Amino acid sequence: METTITTVVTGVEQVTPGFVRVRVTTPGEQWVSTGAADEFIHVEVGADDVDAGDGHTSRHYSVSKVLSDGFEMEIALHGHGPGARWGQRVRPGDAVEVSEPKAYYAPPSAAHRRVLVGDATALPAIARILAEANPDESFSVVIELASMADLRELPSAADVRVEWRIGGNGYAPSVLCSELKGLLPGLRDAAHEPYVWVACEASESRRIRQNLRKEAQLPMAVMRIVGYWHGDKDHIMSVWNSLTEEQLAHAASIWREDRSDEENWVEYEPFLRSLGV
Ligand SMILES: Cc1cc2nc3c(=O)[nH]c(=O)nc-3n(C[C@H](O)[C@H](O)[C@H](O)COP(=O)(O)OP(=O)(O)OC[C@H]3O[C@@H](n4cnc5c(N)ncnc54)[C@H](O)[C@@H]3O)c2cc1C
Repeated sequence: METTITTVVTGVEQVTPGFVRVRVTTPGEQWVSTGAADEFIHVEVGADDVDAGDGHTSRHYSVSKVLSDGFEMEIALHGHGPGARWGQRVRPGDAVEVSEPKAYYAPPSAAHRRVLVGDATALPAIARILAEANPDESFSVVIELASMADLRELPSAADVRVEWRIGGNGYAPSVLCSELKGLLPGLRDAAHEPYVWVACEASESRRIRQNLRKEAQLPMAVMRIVGYWHGDKDHIMSVWNSLTEEQLAHAASIWREDRSDEENWVEYEPFLRSLGV
């Protein structure tokens, strides 16, 4: 974590069978929201491994609601891992270290329609994006769950169409890429492109990015595709931990601060493939 802010848990509630909502208070002015509806933080969950993607021992969680004295987050209880275990044991009164927030969701103001696609881990961010949307915005949403028991109301002032699907989430093949392929043509015309935000398992997110760029030829500026977790985490960590100094330096040189993440992915995708991940 770049910064460490100690918060205190003030509430824990079961949202649906697969989700726990955790409310924390933040001390004074130390934690400031970015204002973006998919903002996320690192949460120190007591992990003893290092995240292959970013080198942290904490886990990422979306800020599902900003409160006057803190915020809420919602933890998917997927059954493995220190983050999911933390979600099951956290109690009011616990101290929790978090980072400052960062965010990805940034639709151009002229976006024709907004498309939100994700698995269970994206549900807290999608719920907040919709809850904070204006009446003049319109959304097409596809959410893939392991169980319909986690389906919930998604209140919004905007015009919203939501499709719920069963699949992915580490239990079954994901249908998100094919759902998006089917949805997209109806949302594009000569004058307008939709803004497409995707958050799901990393290999599925890469498949979707390739499809949007190469087959659908969607401009990079109107898409934000994020891998939220790794289904093949053990393999990725073993590959990453065996990289030479030269390979690590090459990876760092590809991921440049002076271009967008989607631009970086143009070179990063073939680099990852060359490593066999
Ligand atoms: C920007 C961002 C925002 C996120 N927001 C949320 C959020 O609001 N709520 C939320 O619950 N998650 C969210 N995630 C995803 C969460 O960070 C990952 O699922 C994380 O891997 C959980 O850590 P863990 O310790 O439970 O499992 P890990 O230690 O990372 O993994 C242990 C095992 O569990 C598997 N696994 C990990 N996550 C899942 C999963 N979701 N489903 C099935 N199997 C899994 C792995 O493949 C591995 O085999 C977000 C991720 C990012 C990058």
